[in-house]
Amino acid sequence: MRYQSQRIAQIPPYMFAEFNRKKRMMQEAGVDVIDLGIGDPDLPTPKHITDKLIEEMAYPENFKYPSFIGCLEFRQAVADFYKRQFNVTLDPETEVLALIGSKEGLAHLVPAMIDPGEIVLAPDPGYPPYRMAISLAGGQLYTMPLLEENNFEPIFQNIPEIVADEAKLMFLNYPGNPTAATVAVDFFRKAVSFAEKHQVVIAHDAAYHMVTFNDYQAPSILQAEGAKEVAVEFGSLSKTYSMTGWRIGYVVGNKDVIKALSIYKSNTDTGQFTPIQKAAAYALISSQECVKESNRIYAERMQFMAAALADIGVHVKPARGTFFIWASVPEGYTSAQFANMVLEKTGVIVTPGNAFGPSGEGYFRLSLSVPTERLKEAINRMKKELTITKNRKGNV
Ligand SMILES: *Cc1c(COP(=O)(O)O)cnc(C)c1O
Repeated sequence: MRYQSQRIAQIPPYMFAEFNRKKRMMQEAGVDVIDLGIGDPDLPTPKHITDKLIEEMAYPENFKYPSFIGCLEFRQAVADFYKRQFNVTLDPETEVLALIGSKEGLAHLVPAMIDPGEIVLAPDPGYPPYRMAISLAGGQLYTMPLLEENNFEPIFQNIPEIVADEAKLMFLNYPGNPTAATVAVDFFRKAVSFAEKHQVVIAHDAAYHMVTFNDYQAPSILQAEGAKEVAVEFGSLSKTYSMTGWRIGYVVGNKDVIKALSIYKSNTDTGQFTPIQKAAAYALISSQECVKESNRIYAERMQFMAAALADIGVHVKPARGTFFIWASVPEGYTSAQFANMVLEKTGVIVTPGNAFGPSGEGYFRLSLSVPTERLKEAINRMKKELTITKNRKGNV
């Protein structure tokens, strides 16, 4: 009996399996493991949003099959949010589609658009579901290395002409996971002109566009002229409102791409539970003070951790968005060796950079989505147990 398709069988063994085994062993031995590997907000969903969910649970019609494309209230709230935040006008009927979390949409976009053998461009390092979706759809992955000296932006001229012309889809992600890089709208202009020239659709993953600090506001790719002809943007309530478990996101922009994805989805899932959609709509149209407050907390943690890491010889520039620190590992270690050493000596889990692609080698990612007290405890242990003289890449 064969239980797995070749597509499933070819998925590489879970990179963290060995890591997780070690974590469990340490926990069983009584070690208080601090997991800075996960990117899942510790802060609670703001109460006005959970209250709205409870309110919507009182209506029997909300328990029926939802609309395939999402309830109009949610789609309208997303359109209003885009107008308010980015001054981008969207038609909620054709240019907004509700998703069961943005990961769902990002992953289903690939089979909705790509036939086996077709090329998809994806950032390296990058959010692993891009790569996995391309592989599951039988697409051909072409990676765009993101290098620190280029602000972790891909250099479009470095993509061979023949690859660019054959590519059908490109993933981008700013503010970025894992690099925490942010870009100006000018970068999106360059991306859009590349897409126009080579007839490539851009899928911009904006999961962190509202997780930004101080005065920095992340741009939308749809602010670049002509973007709606070639691009879609994926958004999520998960990180902005600490709603990772609720599974609600959206995709906006090019209506033909959205059409393709909605056909795929209408044959695969039947949309998210209506009360979740209504609470999400409420989150988007209500006061955004709660977002300011969570961002203030992340910004504080970012400043604190960057300073504390400098004390032990790891130099990073505090990011303007996301809740990640992306730092080069000290001299003499690979990413995996460093992550292992930190776990063994301090009981703190950091993610080795190569888990996000080969260009992540030499880096580690640390997540600030744990209570500040735990971050302090983690850094105290590091200060005590690790003596680092130099980041592998020298300074900052
Ligand atoms: C968390 C995350 C997502 C997924 O968010 P959901 O909406 O919860 O599926 C997408 N992209 C990136 C880069 C993320 O870090």
